This record gives sequence, C-alpha cells and structure tokens, in this order.
Amino acid sequence: MSPELATSTKERTALVTGASSGIGAAFSKRLAADGYRLILVARRAERLEVMAKEFGAEHGAGFEVFPADLTRPEELLAVEDRIASEPSLELVVNNAGFGTLGPLAELDPDGEESEIRLNILALVRLTRAALPGLIERGRGGVINVSSMGALAPSPYMATYSATKAFVNSFTEGLAGELEGTGVTVQALCPGFTRTEFQEVAGAGTDDIPSFAWQEAEEVVDASLAGLERGDLVVIPGRANQAVAAVTAAMPRSLTRRVLGAAMRRTLAREEEPAP
Ligand code: NAP
Repeated sequence: MSPELATSTKERTALVTGASSGIGAAFSKRLAADGYRLILVARRAERLEVMAKEFGAEHGAGFEVFPADLTRPEELLAVEDRIASEPSLELVVNNAGFGTLGPLAELDPDGEESEIRLNILALVRLTRAALPGLIERGRGGVINVSSMGALAPSPYMATYSATKAFVNSFTEGLAGELEGTGVTVQALCPGFTRTEFQEVAGAGTDDIPSFAWQEAEEVVDASLAGLERGDLVVIPGRANQAVAAVTAAMPRSLTRRVLGAAMRRTLAREEEPAP
C-alpha cells in the first residue's frame, strides 16, 4: 500500500470497472481483503451481486454494485457522477476493456467504436471525474489497465493495440501533471492473463506457450506493489519484461512483421474446421 493510501483515515473506497471477471475481479477481491470499501462496475449485475456478498461475508467489506455499460454515454455519466460525489474515494481502477481480432476491413465498425469508447473514452472520463477529489484530498491513485499490446502496433489487433498505446501515453502525460499532488497514476501492462479476454476477442490460445501466461492475481499483486513504489508503468512478470525489452530494441518494421505473421497463424488456426 502506498504511503498516501496507508495514512488515509477511516473509510477508503475503491471503484473498479470491469469487476465482474478476470483482472477486475482479482483487483476487487484483493482490495476488499485490504480493507477497501468497493464500488463494483460492469454490465453483468448478477455477477457483481454474488461477488459483493462473498466479499461482505469474507472480509466484512462494504460494497456497492453499480451496473453500467460504459460504452453508453448516459451510463458512463452516472458512474462519473458517482465518482465525483464519493468523499472517501482513494482508488479508481480503470480496468474494463476488450479487444477485437481480425483484419480491420472485415471487422464490425460498431464493435471498433465500442472498443474505443470503452478502452479510451470511458477511461479518460472516469479519470477526469476522480482527479479533483483526489487532488483536493492530496492522496490516492488511478490505475489504468493497459496491455503489452501498447508497446507495439499489432496487425489484426490494430485498434486494440492503439487504444492501449493511448492509455500509456495518457497516463504518462498525466503523471507529469500530478507531481507533488500526492496522487499516483499507473499504466498496468499485462501480457497473456487467464481471464475471459481471449474468449471475448475470439482468439485461440493454442500457440501461446504456458510460461507466457499469468494468473490475474499475479497481475494485481505486481500492480499494487508498483503503486506502493510509485512505478508509473508496470509490466507484470519476468517473461513480459523480457518481451518488452526485446520489443524496445527491435525496429518497428520488424516487430510489425513478426506480430503480423504470428497473428496470421492464429487467424488461420481459428478458421480450420474442428477435428
Ligand atoms: P475479461 O475477463 O473479459 O474482463 C473484462 C471486464 O470488462 C469484464 O468484467 C466485463 O464485464 C467488463 N466490460 C466489458 N465491456 C464492458 C462495458 N461495455 N461496460 C462495462 N464493463 C465492461 O478480461 P480481462 O483480461 O480481465 O480484461 C481486463 C483488462 O485487462 C482489459 O482492459 C484488457 O484489455 C486488459 N488486458 C488483458 C489481457 C489478458 O490476456 N487477459 C492482456 C492485456 C491486457 P461485463 O461483461 O459484465 O460488462
């Protein structure tokens, strides 16, 4: 826990978007165990209700279920209002996100728009809603869940990797504004993590070696340890850190070719008839 977070008085509230599964559920569970009161945001209210009851029973954590589709402007606005009106808010985890896979020329344009609305617009607006209160209180933070995909443009996931590059750039820029305020921001860049992400994206996982995978809990541990240290960009796990170092050293044209070939193999495998 960061010094700012540790010195807070009484109630500390964390709002987590995309709390109904994967990394968001793992964040919620860990934060409840750490004594945060939680506001859980996602579309699947019934899942959030089950989680909230579990946290209440296990940790005595206070919770609030806030169902919202963050791609819908009026529902996003309701979450912004909730954030702005919460006096004990200390942490926002902008985690909700999804990826689309395939040649852009064939992808549903509305799906691409939703991806941009969720991965970028919602994240910016919720951060904007949280900052005045956090700055006034002089403590707390915002964790923006990005991706290893932010580190290199990816053919066949061009929109997704671009949204995550935005998240890194936005978060790093913001960090420069927040120096000396007591408010911390972090861009968290997970690699392959066992969640519902791949299924939602329609991406096969057969080609991905087992050492490349992390559990959502490992990603959350790395993020919160990074928040304590004040790390701006967190890449969880040695394998991801090695890939990030190699990517940074490679010419972009080569990265693009390597990623393009790997993605074409994935897409071809998806199209093979089931045995
Ligand atoms: P996940 O299991 O599919 O979780 C995504 C979460 O986002 C769900 O709780 C989902 O809840 C929520 N969500 C989706 N659309 C939403 C909408 N329109 N409004 C509100 N909430 C919405 O995937 P995950 O891996 O945990 O993803 C979390 C974050 O990690 C994402 O930003 C993703 O880009 C990033 N990430 C994941 C991986 C990976 O390999 N898993 C790698 C790099 C980065 P509902 O369906 O209930 O709304």
